[in-house]
Amino acid sequence: MTAVDVLIAGAGPTGSALALDLVRRGLSVRLIDKADQAFTGSRAKGVQPRTQEVFDDLGVLADARAMGGAYPLAGIHLGPVVIPWRMQRQSKATNDVPYPNILLLPQSRTDAVLHRALARVGMIPEFGAALERFEQDETGVTSHLSTGETVRSRYLVGADGGGSTVRRGAGITFTGSTDSDDRTLIVDASIDGLSRRYWHMWPKSGGRAVAACPLPHGDQFQLMMRLTPEEDVDLDEGALAERFRAQTGYPLRDVTWTSVFRPNVRLVEHYRAGRVLLAGDAAHVHTPAGAQGLNTGVQDANNLGWKLGQVLAGAPEGLLDSYEAERRPVAAQVLGRSSELYKGVERGGVGGLRRGDEERQLSLTYRGGPLAAKGSQATATLHVGDRAPDALCAGVSVASLFDAFRGPHFTLLVFGEIARADIAGLRWPDAGAQLHTYAVHDRGEPAGGVVVDRTGELRARYGIAGDAVVLVRPDGYIGAIGTGQWSSILESARERLAPAGR
Ligand SMILES: Cc1cc2nc3c(=O)[nH]c(=O)nc-3n(C[C@H](O)[C@H](O)[C@H](O)COP(=O)(O)OP(=O)(O)OC[C@H]3O[C@@H](n4cnc5c(N)ncnc54)[C@H](O)[C@@H]3O)c2cc1C
Repeated sequence: MTAVDVLIAGAGPTGSALALDLVRRGLSVRLIDKADQAFTGSRAKGVQPRTQEVFDDLGVLADARAMGGAYPLAGIHLGPVVIPWRMQRQSKATNDVPYPNILLLPQSRTDAVLHRALARVGMIPEFGAALERFEQDETGVTSHLSTGETVRSRYLVGADGGGSTVRRGAGITFTGSTDSDDRTLIVDASIDGLSRRYWHMWPKSGGRAVAACPLPHGDQFQLMMRLTPEEDVDLDEGALAERFRAQTGYPLRDVTWTSVFRPNVRLVEHYRAGRVLLAGDAAHVHTPAGAQGLNTGVQDANNLGWKLGQVLAGAPEGLLDSYEAERRPVAAQVLGRSSELYKGVERGGVGGLRRGDEERQLSLTYRGGPLAAKGSQATATLHVGDRAPDALCAGVSVASLFDAFRGPHFTLLVFGEIARADIAGLRWPDAGAQLHTYAVHDRGEPAGGVVVDRTGELRARYGIAGDAVVLVRPDGYIGAIGTGQWSSILESARERLAPAGR
């Protein structure tokens, strides 16, 4: 029997992002997947701004951007006329939001980007290895794989999608509904003669909506064709081509992936049962409207990874309970929002296609959650639990706060001499995620542990006029703010977030 810290079932975007984070924390991890190979379809093709920030932190954003592209305008086909329509406002990058727009990246490429990064740190997802069943006890989980192998792990994470074996095995209820009458056929194929400038939509083609979105770097499109409840669907390439031509007038060829999708709107009662945790579609599924599922899964991983790392290093177990407390309300909100957007699409009309700021997931906050509770304070612009925004600053090999945050550590920003003197005796444990401390100076030259905020932009963005400390969690959210009693606020945060001891 092999023994590891964490066994992850499912090498989709959620499980792969989690594995990448855990490996950089020095944990021993196995990532298994029941499929024979990595996913090959375009399915989830929208990577939201907040997920791009997570990818930046994991060091995979450049690869993701190179493999992806910008979303085109929607092109609404009304008879022979194509009406251009912008679904979402395009924003300019700013110093606090460096990646403001959704990235068009087929899911198979997102998986490939994460798998390449895993390979760079010596980890290959184990395809053809399904988790079949498991038992847990006080010290760990014993999992039985389809290969005949038994794996012992201190924690098991089910990132094994909507049909999760882990969720069933843990006896966790998945509450919600599936509408089996509402089906959409999704196809990856090439289309001759169709402009690549638009995400083409034929709203009422033969009574059923059809759409074709050009995928970046190639000649493929992702097609979506709404089915009527009674119709049989033939996935043969000739039949698909005939159907598409009849509905749109365009020929399609070289089909590489097909799937029939049914809106399934469900949320787990719990994200954790003892040493077993759920993440991604294993915990929440909803309609694809708004492009939220993959993004919510990657952000589950971003929230869970550091907490698992800290608890395995000796931090209080309660930190792991905060995973459900922080992430379940987010998923509940995403379910509601995507159902609302889906209804808008169903009603027809371009208004139902409009996407706003909520979908970017940048304003998501854990304010008022269990980690924000004791003694939490606020600045003029930020609360504990908010996303820590980026800002320009000059440091040694640091040109912005995101440069300082990138990696598995906590980051402490210290403003002013009095706060600096007050926290001089602060001790941070050697075990678990380390603490990187930066004194923020208004002028002078950068040095080790010093960043210079020449323009005052960092202070303004963080809403800080006087002496203050801001502790940024490894997942990029604010863990503590002290505008007085700096050291005692940080000591209390350390007790909740880090292992005891030096
Ligand atoms: C048409 C459509 C469009 C979508 N568009 C978007 C979008 O634009 N943006 C977005 O964010 N989301 C979108 N989604 C949702 C998105 O596809 C999912 O939310 C996302 O794939 C979830 O990732 P995951 O890693 O949690 O699960 P999955 O991608 O389902 O991966 C689960 C993995 O677990 C493996 N597995 C299953 N059982 C076992 C087992 N017993 N043992 C081991 N491995 C197992 C599977 O083989 C699979 O590789 C869309 C979905 C659909 C259907």
